[in-house]
Amino acid sequence: MAFIDELVSAIGEEKVLTDPAELYVYGADWSPRTPDEVRPPEVVVLPDTTRDIQRIVNIAYAHGVPVTAGGGLTGMLGGAVPLFGGIYIDTTTMRSIVEVDPKNQTLRVQAGATLQEVNDAVNPYGLWLPHQPESKWVSTVGAAIACDNDSTFGVRYGKILNCLLSAEIVTGTGEVLELGHRKAHFTSSGYKLKDLLAGSEGTLGVITEATLKLEPIPETRMVDMIVFHRMGSAVDFLSRILKAGLCIEAAHINCKHRLKFYTHAYKDKHGKDPDIPSWAEALLAIAFAGDKDIVKEQRDHAIDIAAEFEAELVKEREIVDSWWASKYTLEFEPFKQKWPDSQGTKKFGAADPGVPVGRLEEFYHKFIEVAGKHDLEIIGMNAYLEHPNSIGFSLSCAVFVDYRSADEVKRFRMFHDELSKLALEFDGTMSTFMSDSDQKAPYLELEHGPSLRYMMEIKKLFDPKGIMNPGKKFPREAEGK
Ligand SMILES: Cc1cc2nc3c(=O)[nH]c(=O)nc-3n(C[C@H](O)[C@H](O)[C@H](O)COP(=O)(O)OP(=O)(O)OC[C@H]3O[C@@H](n4cnc5c(N)ncnc54)[C@H](O)[C@@H]3O)c2cc1C
Repeated sequence: MAFIDELVSAIGEEKVLTDPAELYVYGADWSPRTPDEVRPPEVVVLPDTTRDIQRIVNIAYAHGVPVTAGGGLTGMLGGAVPLFGGIYIDTTTMRSIVEVDPKNQTLRVQAGATLQEVNDAVNPYGLWLPHQPESKWVSTVGAAIACDNDSTFGVRYGKILNCLLSAEIVTGTGEVLELGHRKAHFTSSGYKLKDLLAGSEGTLGVITEATLKLEPIPETRMVDMIVFHRMGSAVDFLSRILKAGLCIEAAHINCKHRLKFYTHAYKDKHGKDPDIPSWAEALLAIAFAGDKDIVKEQRDHAIDIAAEFEAELVKEREIVDSWWASKYTLEFEPFKQKWPDSQGTKKFGAADPGVPVGRLEEFYHKFIEVAGKHDLEIIGMNAYLEHPNSIGFSLSCAVFVDYRSADEVKRFRMFHDELSKLALEFDGTMSTFMSDSDQKAPYLELEHGPSLRYMMEIKKLFDPKGIMNPGKKFPREAEGK
């Protein structure tokens, strides 16, 4: 194909993959899909520099060929799956640390570095990037921005946008733009175009570099688990301790089913699930971080307040440690990680809706009902607090999916769509951390109404030929294809 020959001339043969066996692995991410739904690209490119990416997009633009950028391919909704073939840009070959500015507490990094690599580079300065999803060992900086994923420490530091000062992108015409400000922590000048990148799924351009704000590493951290009679009581408790002025570092409400998913290590060792009171419907994992004395004082005060909610502290440290290791400290090895029941024969499948704070409990029961209706095995619900010092949460409503069964994958997608639309009936949103991909694209207008047209106009400005990750966010027909 002519465009492949041009790629070879432009960036060098060693950076262009065309062997079908190599292409195949780029045809799927971690979203549940049957083997015949794997969609390999026509060619994979391995760029080193922004200039390489610019050359690649120039060729794609001239030939009208689709371009999909990807990182660690651990997305859970098919965001990086190249639905219409074309060029797949593997950004993991671009992982250099460009600059650490310890005084300004900022870092400039290429987009293919993992979030863990960022921390390996800045920790020696006493700084860290607190945007930390569980998949930090493989999730890249570019992908974290492009799918607007969640962080373990969102309740203190927010999501990636709270850290993102600026990003360099290559647009769908091959133009290189810097969006935002490389050094200033704040600006009220112009439109905040960088914010458009959060959740953009590579549909506006390829993110090539980013400047991220860092934070000082706290001296100490204490993690606890508290069990509640109801999900709603855990929410009320969090609201109460925020009112008391406590500064929480992490807060995750697990439903009773979900805890088991995080405590495999405990079960492996003891041959049984952790003993949690039979009345407990919700388990709150909560962390405080900072100077030792302050942490102890805040943690003890929180536990005193928990008594007002008839909640109980989990005393068996091994349960808490097992959960925390699974959530944060366990090294991620694809297919060997903490999910022995999934990824081998069954995959983890989730819907990620958001609902008003006061309706969490009601929505939880709907989740159980809808999973049952589609005959799917429940993993459970998790509510992650993701706004700094505030009660707003994202939701993960998860089930096991046997990806070899076309029928089960279909039922999973029906479950996902039903919960997403139900969230709108609850005055909520269809997505809180996975973005839209092609899964939600057909019904995105339900959430956005006429403003969807403005989104499509913005897309056209960045990508007039509709070549950047086509089929994601908007159905391809809506892009005039
Ligand atoms: C074990 C496990 C744990 C997880 N834990 C969490 C969690 O705690 N919180 C959470 O939110 N998610 C979690 N996820 C989901 C997923 O890992 C994250 O959403 C992650 O950010 C995806 O990163 P990635 O590099 O694998 O992205 P990919 O799957 O490669 O890409 C994701 C999206 O970003 C786009 N993209 C990637 N790079 C670029 C770029 N340079 N420019 C433009 N677009 C780009 C892709 O086109 C795609 O749309 C987890 C997944 C697994 C498998």
